[in-house]
Amino acid sequence: MAELDAVVVGAGPNGLVAAVTLAMAGRRVLVVEAADRAGGGTRSVELTLPGVVHDVCSAVHPLGLASPALRSLPLAGHGLRWVQPEVPLAHVLDGGRAALLHRSLDETAEGLGADGSAYRRLLAPLVASGLDLSDGLLAPLTVPPRHPVALARFGHRGVRSAAALARRRFRTDEGGGLFAGLAAHSILSLEEPVTAGYGLLLGMLGHLVGWPVAEGGSQRIADALVSLLRAHGGRVECGRRIASLDELPRARAVLLDLTPRQVVALAGDRLPARYRRRLARFGYGPGVHKVDWALDGPIPWAAPGAARAATVHVGGSLAEVAAAEEAVQRGGHPQRPFVLVVQPSAFDPSRAPAGVHVGWAYCHVPNGSTVDLTERIEAQVERFAPGFRDRILVRHVMGPAAMQRHDENYVGGDINGGRADLRQFVARPVPGLHPWRTPVEGLYLCSSSTPPGGGVHGMCGWHAAQEVLRGDP
Ligand SMILES: Cc1cc2nc3c(=O)[nH]c(=O)nc-3n(C[C@H](O)[C@H](O)[C@H](O)COP(=O)(O)OP(=O)(O)OC[C@H]3O[C@@H](n4cnc5c(N)ncnc54)[C@H](O)[C@@H]3O)c2cc1C
Repeated sequence: MAELDAVVVGAGPNGLVAAVTLAMAGRRVLVVEAADRAGGGTRSVELTLPGVVHDVCSAVHPLGLASPALRSLPLAGHGLRWVQPEVPLAHVLDGGRAALLHRSLDETAEGLGADGSAYRRLLAPLVASGLDLSDGLLAPLTVPPRHPVALARFGHRGVRSAAALARRRFRTDEGGGLFAGLAAHSILSLEEPVTAGYGLLLGMLGHLVGWPVAEGGSQRIADALVSLLRAHGGRVECGRRIASLDELPRARAVLLDLTPRQVVALAGDRLPARYRRRLARFGYGPGVHKVDWALDGPIPWAAPGAARAATVHVGGSLAEVAAAEEAVQRGGHPQRPFVLVVQPSAFDPSRAPAGVHVGWAYCHVPNGSTVDLTERIEAQVERFAPGFRDRILVRHVMGPAAMQRHDENYVGGDINGGRADLRQFVARPVPGLHPWRTPVEGLYLCSSSTPPGGGVHGMCGWHAAQEVLRGDP
């Protein structure tokens, strides 16, 4: 390849979307990746038994399906197929009960009994705005929203704390627990501002696009992006960890799919001191403790509806979920953590040989924690699925340090590329209308440490690529 137009460091979904966007615009692109396979947080690996495919990091993709960037790319032609479970999400409760988030808003509201009309009032206007609203939420501040009224309505509610909103609106464990579980994806205390926004966005997407898994594993998302990149002349070099920008081949633009701490390590003195200090102040959030299981049957949920969902939130009532997340923010390890469970093989038989099922679960822990919460995670699942432990054939455990070894971007086990609180929602990683640019000419950031933040949607990479294209007509 002659002189390059762009080099991307890191083949996570954001790095790959940035590379694809540039390659499709006719630029010569190289992606360099430390791991031996592209994908970052979408890699799938046989962690337990031969032939059993586990998603090491991301497993469920409402943001992937809703993402304007991924929607615009012909990924189906490169092997990506989304599998929709019958029910997007179940939130299990004691006594064999569960709140189910169906694709249909009406069906969901009916199932929520006394909280049905409150749920409908909260979600119906957002669902009615359709993907224009979520597109607006994932867009840069410089783009005028297509539906300013819907966005303002979302902002008015979303900026609040999830716990306050849920306590005011919901009376039952079903309504309160369901909303708390959605909001807990923020990995913040549910008493913090903007946590309601996470709950509203993820609930709304459940109705609009579902909570699908990728057929064959999340790796297929990365594989499709790599295939598309190659079709447009781009290249990916794996097994090439970059320690300094000096190691990179000459290119007009360098895009870093890395978090601020790594950017400082790679770019060093090339960054002006003031910018470097700002990056150094960027805060990382709690980490995760993850367990993957090969099981000899499906998880035996006491609530019958839970088997119909690929994603099951395990943590009980609003008060319980809120207390668990609050404990983590205060540096503690809850006895009864809020556990996110995914059971993909129930809907995607290609994940495991006949008779074997795949279980994926994690809970939040303080950043860098070394406490092993495997027993507490399994006790929580057993509480709502008696007999679960007897189904475990093999387990694979990853605490924060193992997660960071798997992907250096998960600093201390933080899977969001930095705390996603109100301050770092606005200043991600620094305040400004063009956070994907750095003060160094030709150097850009494209990871989830830039807007719109964590999740497999590729929008950070897409925005960064637009900045490159704007500067290089
Ligand atoms: C346990 C877990 C569960 C998750 N669940 C979900 C989910 O269900 N749905 C969802 O949407 N999101 C989920 N996420 C979050 C999602 O995976 C991330 O937000 C997303 O992958 C971020 O993409 P990225 O491209 O910014 O970074 P990453 O995907 O982290 O990619 C960064 C890449 O850079 C590479 N790299 C790092 N340093 C160097 C270096 N020095 N030289 C070369 N390469 C380097 C890394 O190896 C990696 O491949 C989860 C994450 C984890 C860990």
